[in-house]
Parts: sequence; C-alpha cells; structure tokens
Amino acid sequence: MKKHIVVQKYGGSSVANIDRIKTVAKRIVDSKTTNNHLVVVVSALGDTTDELEEMAFSITKTPPEREMDMLMSTGEQISCALLAMAIKTMGRDAISLTGQQVGIQTDKAHTRARIHTICGQRIRKALSKNQIVIVAGFQGVSLEQEITTLGRGGSDLTAVALAQALKAKVCEIYTDVKGIYTTDPRIVKQARKIKTITFDEMMEMASLGAQVMQARSIEVAKKFNIPIHVRSSFSKEEGTMIVKNKEKLEEIAVRGVTRNKSEAKITICAVPDQPGIAAKIFSAVSQTGANVDIIVQNISHTRHTDISFTVLKKDIHKALTAAKKIAEKIKAGDVLHEDDIARVSIVGSGMRSHTGIAALMFQTLAKNKINIDMISTSEISISCIISSEQSDKAVQVLHKAFNLDKIK
Ligand code: ASP
Ligand code: MG
Repeated sequence: MKKHIVVQKYGGSSVANIDRIKTVAKRIVDSKTTNNHLVVVVSALGDTTDELEEMAFSITKTPPEREMDMLMSTGEQISCALLAMAIKTMGRDAISLTGQQVGIQTDKAHTRARIHTICGQRIRKALSKNQIVIVAGFQGVSLEQEITTLGRGGSDLTAVALAQALKAKVCEIYTDVKGIYTTDPRIVKQARKIKTITFDEMMEMASLGAQVMQARSIEVAKKFNIPIHVRSSFSKEEGTMIVKNKEKLEEIAVRGVTRNKSEAKITICAVPDQPGIAAKIFSAVSQTGANVDIIVQNISHTRHTDISFTVLKKDIHKALTAAKKIAEKIKAGDVLHEDDIARVSIVGSGMRSHTGIAALMFQTLAKNKINIDMISTSEISISCIISSEQSDKAVQVLHKAFNLDKIK
C-alpha cells in the first residue's frame, strides 16, 4: 500500500527548551504509523530569531541583508538537528535537512525571499528509507547559492509549500494555542476557538493582527487549496481547520475581532487642494520605503484640506521626515504624528451578503464613547483606528455585539 505524507510544523514555543523538544519528539514518534510518512518543519527554539536579530543590531543599525540571512537561518538549523537526535533516541530513524539540502529554491530578496520551486528529491529518498524527515523552516537558497529567509513567521510557509510539493494528505501547524480564536483570549476571556475558518478570513485576520499564522503561508494554502489544521502541541484536542469556502460558513457575518498596535498616524494640515498634491506627498513617503496603509483626506472648504495616513511604527521616523520636507515644499501647514493608536477590525466572509454590519460596529463603539479616528474597509473586513488606550474595551464590546462569545 502506498503511504500518505503528513506535514507537521512545530513553532518556536513548542521547541523552546530541551524538555519541550523531547515532548515534541515523542508526539512525532507517536504519530508515525505504518501507513504514513512524516515530514516535520521546525522553527527556531523559543525567541532565538529575535535574539539573533538583536545581536546583529547591536553591531550595526543597518546589517547587510545577506549576512542577516546567514545569521537568522542558523536558528532553525539548531532546532532541526536537536529534534532529529531526540527522535533517534526513541528508536525511530530521523534525518534533519536544511532548506538548501531540501532544495527550497527562492528568489534573491534577502530576509523576505519568495519560494520559486521545491525539489523534493532528497526528502523522497529519505522517506523511502522510512526516515522521519525534519526540515529547518523559514529558509531556502537562491539560484546563486545564497542562503535566504522567508520573512518572519516563515516556517509556516515552508510547511505549506512542502505540503503542496509533496502532495501531502494533511498539513498540521502545531503551536502554543489551541487553534484560531474569535479574538485574543488575553483581551476577552470569553473568546471561542473557531472550528472552521476560510482561507480568506484567516488571511485577513493574520494581516490585521491575529498572530497565529503567517499571512503569506495562507495565501499559498489558498492558491493550492491545502487545508490546514492549526492545533496545540501540548494537547490532543482538535484545533481549527482552515479551508476553502463552504456554503455553511457564509451564515456567520463576523468570524473574529482583531487588534493591532503596530501602526502610527501622520497628519499633514492645511494641504493646498490642487491636482497632483497627493501624488507628491505619497511618492515622497513611499520613497523612504515606508508602507502607507489607511489614508484619509477631508473635503476642503477653504481650498485647504488635512491629509492623514498610517505607517508602521518602525517606519515613523523616516516617514515623518519625508512628510515634513514635502509639507514645506507644497506650502502645507503643520505635520503632526500620533503613536498611541490601535486598529480594531472585524472580519468575516459573511459580510459580503449581510447588511448593517458597519452600522452595528460604529454604534457599538459610539455607545461605549470610543471615538473613531479613521475607517477602512475591505470586502470581508472593517477596521477602525482608535486610541490605543481604548482598544481593549473596543475589542471586548465588539466581540459581544457580534455574539462571538456564543459561537459553537
Ligand atoms: N524563526 C522564525 C521567526 O521567528 C521563523 C518562524 O518562527 O516561523 O520568525
Ligand atoms: Mg517564531
């Protein structure tokens, strides 16, 4: 009988220390049957990647990206070797392989590389010897034989891409939470684990601040329709299935609430209301490499208008410098900035067919005296920028208003 392939991925907290590595090894050995082949992707131990990054930044504020990848890829090399050893002590054969050895070929965009192809030959050979294959996540190699990494959280992407390349039957993501929740359980005690969520919803939740999975990995899973099971590495309980659209899923308008504090706001006051001005401002800002997100421009009554926009907090200094320079050039007024903001969003595919969702969101915030600064919408989400201070409250009242505490 032909064996089916199972891809499992274990996140950094699941392998944070030697005891946990042994526990994960045991779990892997237990899930090996005579009918399956196991390919396991691991992240670096605990906070290793952050620590490596810190070390680099303590040497220089602008570490060369090639050297960053050389450095950051070592984290996963440690965890995959230790895990393979632990499995071997339990009497099962295992082999650890780096991204390069597996043939994960990427472009040359260091620290955020994209996977082009995966040559699964080495893996297949190991599997044919009935070895459990442990793959270092988050890394690949360019055509020029340079080591690359896939962006933070990139081990998820390694797992999904391997599941696609190897035609795996299942792709399981093991993490330190029990699955995807309706919101962050640290903010709302009544947050519920979601049984099934669509790729679109998960992608939106991940990019709006839910921290469980890397958004890019979901994009790939959606493209190739690879169902993902997100579950806890500490319990046997079923987690959350991420799947393609199902009829039934559309009955629920709002599936989750997210909160994200990674943005800051810049306002350029009294901008002359003339054609070409917005183009000038945003060309100047984007030239700094800062990514602009929400933009709000008011109508002008006096031939002048205020323009506000958000950028990532880490980019605020360069964006602000550029904004001040351009404001002077176009004879606009003051340039203000605000760091203490948060984005609170509701997400759900059902929004496409339900009405009144935005109204309920705004009414709920109004009733709780939460002022909305900016609003942005997509087909399946609505985001409000509010003060950071009020954002816990906002998440709590929205979670309740959309009955997310009652989801089965
Ligand atoms: N270790 C990398 C990171 O922390 C990749 C990953 O964990 O998926 O971003
Ligand atoms: Mg990690």
